[in-house]
Amino acid sequence: MSSSTQKLAGKVAVVTGSSKGIGASIAKHLAAEGASVVVNYASSREGAEKVVSEITAKGGKAIAVQADVSKRAEVERLFADTKKAYGQVDVLVNNAGIYEFSPLETITEEHFHKQFDLNVLGTILATQEALKHFNPAGASVINLSSIVSTWAPPNGSVYSATKAAVDAITGSLAKELGARKIRVNAVRPGMVETEGTHSNGFVTGDFRKSIESQTPLGRIGQPHDIATAVVFLASSDSAWISGETLLIAGGLR
Ligand code: NAP
Repeated sequence: MSSSTQKLAGKVAVVTGSSKGIGASIAKHLAAEGASVVVNYASSREGAEKVVSEITAKGGKAIAVQADVSKRAEVERLFADTKKAYGQVDVLVNNAGIYEFSPLETITEEHFHKQFDLNVLGTILATQEALKHFNPAGASVINLSSIVSTWAPPNGSVYSATKAAVDAITGSLAKELGARKIRVNAVRPGMVETEGTHSNGFVTGDFRKSIESQTPLGRIGQPHDIATAVVFLASSDSAWISGETLLIAGGLR
């Protein structure tokens, strides 16, 4: 695709947790639209390098940067490396997240803090640091929420609470940052087939069947179903949309 038809030509995007799953697809879709992409990961160096090489093989620009986004010092390093490679930031996708289910009786403080530290604190720390590097001409933040922020399944009270917090952060920061031409939106996927949902058994078990039977479009999602919406929210096609939480779940609500 020539640069004149690419929606994100010349832009710089940081995608947290993009070594696999939804984040990897988002990184590839943003790069296909011309963005230079920072592929962040926590431990899957090989996965992140594979995403980078798939992007560069198609003529795109990307680098892999390791950083645990639940830790301030590592987030600072992520953006310092981004600045060194590409300069200012135009798009931040707060995708890194974990989901663990547990009945009320077995919830531990560890279960709580692990999910809140990454899904909520990580989103805040990354956005806070990105703010120092955003293009003064404008920027777009896209947070990965989930259908569970309102459609809360049993045994997921802590995970659902983290995503309800992400929705609240999205609404609050959209108001706080609008005057600086920074748009803040969220996408709320239903169940999506990823490494994460495979490894916790969601994709193969009865849970998937139950979800599909309740979903008007009759299937679970694939990462590209989410990535295409993120490209829209990152680009000027959505120039007057901020504070929105977009449900992408095949009609399930
Ligand atoms: P996934 O397949 O488990 O991938 C998670 C990604 O996050 C990996 O790249 C992982 O990197 C990275 N990550 C984990 N801990 C990190 C940390 N501390 N710092 C930086 N990166 C970290 O997950 P997914 O299913 O694609 O989900 C992605 C996002 O979508 C999450 O926020 C999730 O809550 C949300 N979501 C998912 C679904 C779904 O059904 N899949 C539905 C709704 C919302 P390493 O491999 O290096 O650890």
